[in-house]
Amino acid sequence: MAGFFERLRQGMTKTRTGLGDKIRALVGGRQWSDSLYDDLEEILYEADLGAQAVESILDQLRQRVRESRPERAEDVLDLLRQVMVSMLESMPNPYELTGTPAIWLMVGVNGTGKTTTAGKLAERMKRRGHSVILGAADTFRAAAAEQLMEWGRRAGVDVVHQVEGADPAAVAFDTVRAASARKLDLAVIDTAGRLHNKAHLMQELGKIARVVGRECPGAPHQVWLVIDATTGQNGLEQARVFQEAVNVTGIVLTKLDGTAKGGVAFAIHQALNIPIGFVGVGEKLDDLMTFDPEGYVRAILG
Ligand code: GDP
Repeated sequence: MAGFFERLRQGMTKTRTGLGDKIRALVGGRQWSDSLYDDLEEILYEADLGAQAVESILDQLRQRVRESRPERAEDVLDLLRQVMVSMLESMPNPYELTGTPAIWLMVGVNGTGKTTTAGKLAERMKRRGHSVILGAADTFRAAAAEQLMEWGRRAGVDVVHQVEGADPAAVAFDTVRAASARKLDLAVIDTAGRLHNKAHLMQELGKIARVVGRECPGAPHQVWLVIDATTGQNGLEQARVFQEAVNVTGIVLTKLDGTAKGGVAFAIHQALNIPIGFVGVGEKLDDLMTFDPEGYVRAILG
């Protein structure tokens, strides 16, 4: 847990929200009073927590303040921390493999970090003793398969791929076939995320899900929606489209190392109601961490 907090805080240092500092400055040596809620609301907005989450946080904070009558800024921060942690949900165990082989799909808008995260996950699962294969079903973007193969080389994991423009569902099918034939534990399949045509995206993802489900009962067992934390509320809108297209089971929140808007996890929770499994804190293979609400809130509050 300390590891999560330290690394996340390190990553967020340059641009971290500084919420804690702002709240300390707001309360100062004074006793907490109701007149401070408006300013607090503004501070929370700036961290991109989203309107719904801010409202919910303030409601719960009011309740707790009434109950315990905090005297110092640190006491208020403590209450705020408790409220924020209680609102966040993480995956029970994001590493859990159901299905033999387990089939994971990576979905999300282009540029969010899908391919990178697929590589990171493959390496992580291999390090945990599982046999893994990667599938390059993002056949739309020319460099995507190349990039995934590079990750595969670094992680020591094979990558199933076809030529650019091939049917993504066919690549997904081949990947599942290969995983079954080789009796592997896990296949991680990267997909394309172009969003200019919602109907097509839904059709394509739906087809991939159907094809892998036919080949391996219950698949896909995990559908990771990758969201770029730096895009804030915008990323959320896009996420809704994916949620409509396919049964998303978990979120990976990337680029938390590069944003002052780290509060977006709250907005995601309020809007999508999907647990967060992992966060990305950099571009290297091991810059992936399991999501820990307490460490996350501590990193945001500073
Ligand atoms: P895709 O189009 O969704 O597959 O996205 P990519 O995996 O190609 O990633 C897009 C860019 O984001 C690349 O330059 C990655 O190195 C970068 N990236 C991915 N995850 C992270 C992260 O957690 N932190 C940072 N700083 N960069 C990331």
